[in-house]
Amino acid sequence: MATIVPVLHGGCLCGAVRYSVRCDEPVVDYCHCAMCRKASGGVVSAWIQVPPADFTLTHGTVADHVSSERGTRHFCPRCGAQLYMTDPDGRSVGVTVGTLDDPEAIRPTVHGWDSSRPSWLHITDDLPRYDEAPPYDL
Ligand SMILES: [Zn+2]
Ligand SMILES: [Zn+2]
Repeated sequence: MATIVPVLHGGCLCGAVRYSVRCDEPVVDYCHCAMCRKASGGVVSAWIQVPPADFTLTHGTVADHVSSERGTRHFCPRCGAQLYMTDPDGRSVGVTVGTLDDPEAIRPTVHGWDSSRPSWLHITDDLPRYDEAPPYDL
């Protein structure tokens, strides 16, 4: 019997860009790195990590910014919302939890780049923490 993998939907603030992502109990990492702060404007970002084949842009087109040799950030050219991130090796697509229509559909699983977290941002959960990049294949 085939398992039914849930499909989640999301998009940017202005609605110009929409996507869907297939995932079932995915790795969902909080990222405390300085680049995610600058890119999002938020003090922490959270990402769903899925294989590239499980992510589909369903409406609109995105603008890109190569923020490091590890990743390219894709955002709405009209409202600026950061939607997803790709890596040069095609290992995974990171989708911003903040742009999901229903963030209750997932649960964070790990903290990454904890060494860059502002000291006043307190974590009270028991999720694993990595000083730098978390492994995507937890
Ligand atoms: Zn937009
Ligand atoms: Zn980051």
